[in-house]
Amino acid sequence: MVEKLLRCIQCNQVIPLYGEFIDANANAHLPGVVWGDDDLKLKEEFFLIHNEHPLEELTVDFDTYISDKPTFELIKVSYFEATNGRERFLVKRSRERFDQSAHYEIIPGKLKISNVACEILEEELRGQIGNLNGSSQLTDEEVNYLIKALQEEFKNISPEELFQEIEIVEEVQTPLTLLATFKEKHWQNIIQRLQNYLRQQEFRRILDFLEKNRLLKENAPLFIQMEMSFLHS
Ligand SMILES: [Zn+2]
Repeated sequence: MVEKLLRCIQCNQVIPLYGEFIDANANAHLPGVVWGDDDLKLKEEFFLIHNEHPLEELTVDFDTYISDKPTFELIKVSYFEATNGRERFLVKRSRERFDQSAHYEIIPGKLKISNVACEILEEELRGQIGNLNGSSQLTDEEVNYLIKALQEEFKNISPEELFQEIEIVEEVQTPLTLLATFKEKHWQNIIQRLQNYLRQQEFRRILDFLEKNRLLKENAPLFIQMEMSFLHS
């Protein structure tokens, strides 16, 4: 994605800026963004319309990037913030056809991302543990205790602090649907909870099982669904 935009301060319009504009034909082997004819036309038009207008560079804040379509999808609408160092702007990027350049525009207001659902993937976790057959298979009771420990730890995290307490493992389909795991300190709490529920011998067994199968390290027990909305200022 583009890292910088050029903004006409007078008209509040933007075009993407990739440092030097590259002629796609002459530099087709260059990595990164290649400028097609459409982009070059867009650039020419922009400089024609905004000739003598004050211009400034905006830097894209990648952390704010969001879209309701998968990352690999090319035809989509996405949003992000960009800044000139003093002010932040909400930018809408849209592309309607494969043979068309992306269109960037500054839109008023702010983007609000809210969690609409966040839950422990209980069924999936039971399934994964069930698939790990072997001599150290956990009993249903032990699995119940594990899920109970996860649920109780999860309940202690307030929704406002959710993203400080978890780590995103991956996007599922769209940037608004995520799989996540607890941060280390919460795993320590979860293990502490298990130790409280279980006798020493059972506790060691369940811990060995989890460590041996790297269940705590590699699986994302949390599912998060977010939605975006616009706050008009
Ligand atoms: Zn202008």
